[in-house]
Amino acid sequence: MTVAGKIKKILIANRGEIALRIVRACRELGIASVVAHSEADTNSLPVKHADSAVCVGGSPAGASYLSKERMIGAAVAFGADAIHPGYGFLAENAAFAELCQQQDVIFIGPSAEVIRAMGDKIEARKIAAAAGVPIIPGSGGAVADASIAREIAEEVGYPILVKAAAGGGGRGMRVIETRAELDRGLNEAMGEAQTAFGDASIYIEKYLTDIRHLEVQVLGDGERAIHLGERDCSSQRRNQKLIEEAPCRSISEKTRSALCAAAVDLCHRVGYQSAGTVEFVYDNKERKFYFIEMNTRIQVEHPVTEMVTGIDLVKEQIRIANGEGLRLRQEDIRTVGHAIECRINAEDPARNFMPSPGQVSEYLSPGGPGIRIDSHLERGYVIPPFYDSLVAKVIAWGSDRTEAVDRMLRGLGEMRVEGIATTISLQRRILDSAPFRAGNVNTRLVGELMSQTAAAAE
Ligand code: ADP
Ligand code: ADP
Ligand code: MG
Repeated sequence: MTVAGKIKKILIANRGEIALRIVRACRELGIASVVAHSEADTNSLPVKHADSAVCVGGSPAGASYLSKERMIGAAVAFGADAIHPGYGFLAENAAFAELCQQQDVIFIGPSAEVIRAMGDKIEARKIAAAAGVPIIPGSGGAVADASIAREIAEEVGYPILVKAAAGGGGRGMRVIETRAELDRGLNEAMGEAQTAFGDASIYIEKYLTDIRHLEVQVLGDGERAIHLGERDCSSQRRNQKLIEEAPCRSISEKTRSALCAAAVDLCHRVGYQSAGTVEFVYDNKERKFYFIEMNTRIQVEHPVTEMVTGIDLVKEQIRIANGEGLRLRQEDIRTVGHAIECRINAEDPARNFMPSPGQVSEYLSPGGPGIRIDSHLERGYVIPPFYDSLVAKVIAWGSDRTEAVDRMLRGLGEMRVEGIATTISLQRRILDSAPFRAGNVNTRLVGELMSQTAAAAE
């Protein structure tokens, strides 16, 4: 169906599976797609599937995917009415959203002001606290020096977690176990934040040890906001998600409604427009949730929500950006069954997860009932060494969690990726472990399973 409105052509300022995902949404909406890519991605699947493509620069992300000027220049040159930034790269860059506005190109996402407020994790924490959403005990704002840090640490108790205000993607975090480590830990954290994000601002939270990562998918049109339920993304390695599921089977209905209501409330407060995710941690023992951050973009794991709600989140983003408003009401959202996503990374678990770029000599994609593949892989594809190592997302839907787990294991068993190392075998081990099957998951489970395997191998 063609959408009536301003958007006839979208420039996709991203790569890999998410670029292809957006191409597919455009096609279904009757909107033309232009994939803006780097030199290294000239022969990639999203480029092949898009209506047109343009090489905007060199292979390093700074010369292409992170270049605001090149992306906006390509959009203007190709007569694109809108830019979809995907996730990562320019997706949460307020200056880029502003530049789009100046050039009269629609940025498919929230306003620059909202990105700025929510993208700064310290600001977001303040907004949540002001909205009465629980936050993890810690600093009120940025921590400027060691004496303030010491006071906060004494107050909340060790261990503490030092976080970069501009952090993301599981980076910019450091645990400090004792007072003796504080001064050095703090200095190193600030240095790392400056190097990685160009901003040394840090803040402190109490480090919680038995938690789940829960997050709520939201959609807003600036006036109204709704939620599409929660995802449980507790299966993580080094604060990076490996397996995500929807819904969370381990919280009460009461907790679920409070969690989702808190997320919607935050969106109302900032007049949130587009798709977004409000992230929380849930303390398994205390049975309490705390806000951690908001991601003002489409998220890697959005497909699990799509599978249980039947709603295409990327198309909704485009419709909202097109000025059609939010056509869904809260009562339209129903979830059916259970969905799980495995992030398949081109990394070698046996070599400390070293990235494994190179040519894919053989590729067999899984299929059959309840399996969805979001991937830019194909036989012969050469994975470039310049970018994130995510190469495929395998999503399994089942009428209940057990069926979803069994389908995922069946699907991963069918999948063959040769020529490079992947995380497939690790994913299978996690899924088939007794605690995962029983739903006894916290953010430390993957690490524990890995050290058990390492110990058994000795
Ligand atoms: P999600 O939040 O969607 O679950 P991630 O946290 O893994 O996913 O981040 C999605 C992508 O964006 C990853 O490729 C990650 O490396 C990148 N990313 C997220 N935030 C930042 C940031 N602040 N700086 C650099 N890269 C980021
Ligand atoms: P990012 O911006 O990198 O996504 P988040 O603040 O969302 O960072 O945190 C990423 C992950 O780190 C969470 O999913 C959780 O596993 C862990 N984490 C975050 N805050 C805490 C905390 N206070 N205590 C323990 N673990 C935490
Ligand atoms: Mg996060």
